[in-house]
Amino acid sequence: MAKKILLLPGDGIGPEIVTQAHKILAALQDTGLDVDIRQADVGGVAYDHSGSPLPDDTLRLAQEADAVLLGAVGGYKWDDLPVADKPEKALLRLRSELQLFSNLRPAILYPQLADASTLKPEVVTGLDLMIVRELTGGIYFGQPRGIEETASGERRGFNTLVYSESEIERICRSAFSIARKRSGRVCSVDKANVLEVSILWREVANRVAGDYPDIELTHMYVDNAAMQLVKAPKQFDVIVTSNMFGDILSDTAAMLTGSIGMLPSASLAADGKGMYEPIHGSAPDMAGQDQANPLATILSVAMMLRYTLSRTDFADQIEHAVASVLDQGFRTADIYTGSGTELGTGAMGDAVLAALP
Ligand code: NAD
Repeated sequence: MAKKILLLPGDGIGPEIVTQAHKILAALQDTGLDVDIRQADVGGVAYDHSGSPLPDDTLRLAQEADAVLLGAVGGYKWDDLPVADKPEKALLRLRSELQLFSNLRPAILYPQLADASTLKPEVVTGLDLMIVRELTGGIYFGQPRGIEETASGERRGFNTLVYSESEIERICRSAFSIARKRSGRVCSVDKANVLEVSILWREVANRVAGDYPDIELTHMYVDNAAMQLVKAPKQFDVIVTSNMFGDILSDTAAMLTGSIGMLPSASLAADGKGMYEPIHGSAPDMAGQDQANPLATILSVAMMLRYTLSRTDFADQIEHAVASVLDQGFRTADIYTGSGTELGTGAMGDAVLAALP
């Protein structure tokens, strides 16, 4: 039966980059990919049309879909809306409604783009790591939280870092399964020298690892992990960590590669359904100018094929096509360093299309 894919272009550069990804999906449909593709509004554009950044119809289509491809949401126009109506609220709600607890953030440096990194080429060339971040628990969601006034009249802010064993177990299982499709190494990042939550995290990770004898599990404190990511990032394959540590480390890892226009991401539910999106935002400064790099969105389609649709063959085809386009010297403005041919968003999409087998 055809798998259902929902496209949510969103705001800013979202429609331009999702159009390029759609072209690729349509080409794969012609060569045997059995998918049913729908499209709906999300974010600011949805608010303008219906008064909600996540209309009921969009949520229903997302719940029915096997995979969602999101462009980006947000922009200056909606910055002053109340928090509940902001475009970004749609993302948080989609993550929680679809129970997307496992966030995969690869950081890959294509050798052709080694110059785009601020780090020395020998430190980053060949970098290919995956951060698996717990997305629905931890300090961002723990209760109690708030700002209160103490008896002395001073204000006090507080949040709660909490993880249950089952939450830790399922994110570790997610990371171990992903490591099986890679080199089989997982580094669990915590702060077990200070935090009880991390002591439990480490215990559970070690216990779960017993079910994956083929996986090599190591542990690292988060402060050291931050240093190692910048000093010797190629030592890592899969990193698994909590929500806040993952938030910070995945942005650090992204910057090792030099361009946020190249990096895809996935957020998965326990049943394998998922939402796929580039890591960047809606880039309102370049919206509608045919300048945005569509490769992160196209590579998000490759992740969708690999992790939800189990079509590694088509995922490989897309990743090879992107590598081939870079080999041919094609660059969008964000990754152009003076040589090769500079292309706009649409022409870059066409170049990837032409490089498919
Ligand atoms: P951003 O990622 O949109 O842009 C940061 C910088 O990177 C900008 O200079 C932008 O032009 C550039 N950039 C981003 N994507 C690019 C691409 N594909 N090709 C070339 N250059 C690219 O982050 P921001 O400026 O902090 O946020 C802009 C809006 O996006 C805000 O409303 C923010 O809330 C929203 N946002 C949405 C998401 C999401 O939808 N997942 C994520 C982050 C930010």
